[in-house]
Amino acid sequence: DVVVVGSVNADLVVRVGRRPAPGETVMGSDLDTFPGGKGANQAVAAARLGADVALLARTGTDQYGARLVAGLAAEGVGVEHVMETEGASGVALITVDAEGDNSIIVSPGANARLTPADVAAAGDLVSGAAVVSLMLEIPLDTVMAAARAARRAVLNASPPRELPGELLALADPLVVNEHEAAFLLGAASAAPVSEPAGMARALLALGPRSVVITLGADGAVVAEPPTAGSPGFADAAAGVPAAAPGRVAAQGDGALGRPAGAVVTMVPSPVVDAVDTTGAGDAFTGALAWRLALGDNLPEAAGFAAEVGAAAVRKEGAQSSYPRGEEL
Ligand code: ADP
Repeated sequence: DVVVVGSVNADLVVRVGRRPAPGETVMGSDLDTFPGGKGANQAVAAARLGADVALLARTGTDQYGARLVAGLAAEGVGVEHVMETEGASGVALITVDAEGDNSIIVSPGANARLTPADVAAAGDLVSGAAVVSLMLEIPLDTVMAAARAARRAVLNASPPRELPGELLALADPLVVNEHEAAFLLGAASAAPVSEPAGMARALLALGPRSVVITLGADGAVVAEPPTAGSPGFADAAAGVPAAAPGRVAAQGDGALGRPAGAVVTMVPSPVVDAVDTTGAGDAFTGALAWRLALGDNLPEAAGFAAEVGAAAVRKEGAQSSYPRGEEL
């Protein structure tokens, strides 16, 4: 089973010919309201695939809160631990211009009031789950509390921000897209690498237990430390640089107390006609968490998640585009 500790938002979308300049007013389309928030998106993605998934979150007492919770329950997400906070729900104000480009303002509302005490109060909901899935639309100390309590924490480091070393060290895997990967690497080094496998190795060297970088239409790349079963473990453990031709390996960080090196796996995505990529990363992460909870190894789980991500870009919207198990 999977527990998501994360955000719930109402996405308010208006289409405009062009964005207003400061001080200017422009006319837009009718307002569309969609369920969103990276936490809710992950939970719905997993639930639609058949996962037993619960959400620990907060919504407001405004016009959106109860509707958002009812929508999650209708998707099969466990909402017993979605609590009500006096005031505004999380809201994303989204404008889409004639070119299809988004501008988004997220107002955290109740999401900002999800606390480490809420994680503690949820008790074995969090500590008993096979996988706890996390993202960064809730306070960082709450993410940290959940990661500490979790048997296994999947961390989608989005929206990007600097991460404390302790949180990185609990991520298994750290899931990022290429922009987020560049952000984390940029914060860590003067000369970031740009090729995906190199980025994945460099991220692994920052300390997470494993790494997945999603690459849009190109799928994903997985980096893991060598295990006893992987080729070259013995020489890596003995500190001998891996030099065997054809093997993907790199210097790791021996200071982290694990063998040097990284096993890197490229995971393809099915080729699809992309209509709307909104929420693809959340679908990927929710699907990944579910497959890891079922016992897949990381490359297997990422392969499945890439299929789910590809299905999600074939339709408009975030949650509305997520596939059911039988559609894959
Ligand atoms: P994000 O939505 O966080 O920017 P990506 O764009 O990397 O993340 O997409 C996440 C996943 O969705 C990818 O790993 C891939 O499986 C799938 N995906 C995204 N865009 C496409 C695309 N154009 N064609 C096929 N699959 C895609």
